[in-house]
Amino acid sequence: APWRATVLTLYPEMFPGPLGHSLSGDALTRGTWSLEPRQIREHGLGRHRSVDDTPAGGGAGMVLRCDVLGAAIDAAAPPDDARPRLLMSPRGRPLTQARVRALAEGPGAILVCGRFEGVDERVIEARALEEVSIGDYVLSGGEIAALVLIDACVRLLPGVMGKHASGVEESFEGGLLEYPHYTRPREWEGRTIPDVLMGGNHAAIARWRAERSHALTRARRPDLLDGEEP
Ligand code: SAM
Repeated sequence: APWRATVLTLYPEMFPGPLGHSLSGDALTRGTWSLEPRQIREHGLGRHRSVDDTPAGGGAGMVLRCDVLGAAIDAAAPPDDARPRLLMSPRGRPLTQARVRALAEGPGAILVCGRFEGVDERVIEARALEEVSIGDYVLSGGEIAALVLIDACVRLLPGVMGKHASGVEESFEGGLLEYPHYTRPREWEGRTIPDVLMGGNHAAIARWRAERSHALTRARRPDLLDGEEP
């Protein structure tokens, strides 16, 4: 069965968007994964299909209603749907490559995209939504975050990356940032490819890459090295 992404959003026309191109687009066409954007407003209230209201206790902005979002979730995913229910949220646990890999190995995901000031807390509790953040910054809506999460998962699905099959050497997979890459021409604007990469000594190349990975990680992301020997 294909990996299934169901996205609850006020802007279903944003999907597949960039995911309709390149590797993810080809895989979507081939049926390796499927995408179902669902319009939350279909469950909106009254003539105007209203989905939000002012925050209890006052303050700026609007809040997505729990009854509307609850109905949208129930219509999109029956209780026996085994897929995790994720709410894109800057308050969530930050998304990691390990979590992406676990999601890609499962049946898919149900992604809820917030807008405005966020969603009524009660629907998060009642529908057991897991809040997921894509980083420590605030987006205007969850759609781009959902696209990011789906892209990261889809490229790991069997057959999507072709000869880069496992992606095991990439940044984060080994706990480190990836080493630098080079390709032709050998010299460009006075800069040459490091000699070791041109020498054909595979052990020496592996050592050089490991050393560069460590140096980059130490300089940019020392948090990734916590607990590791220098
Ligand atoms: N008032 C909220 C807060 O401070 O936590 C921010 C709401 S934000 C303007 C609107 C929506 O964008 C959120 O409900 C969420 O779905 C999405 N969003 C914003 N930043 C995000 C992030 N870093 N990761 C995932 N989703 C995000």
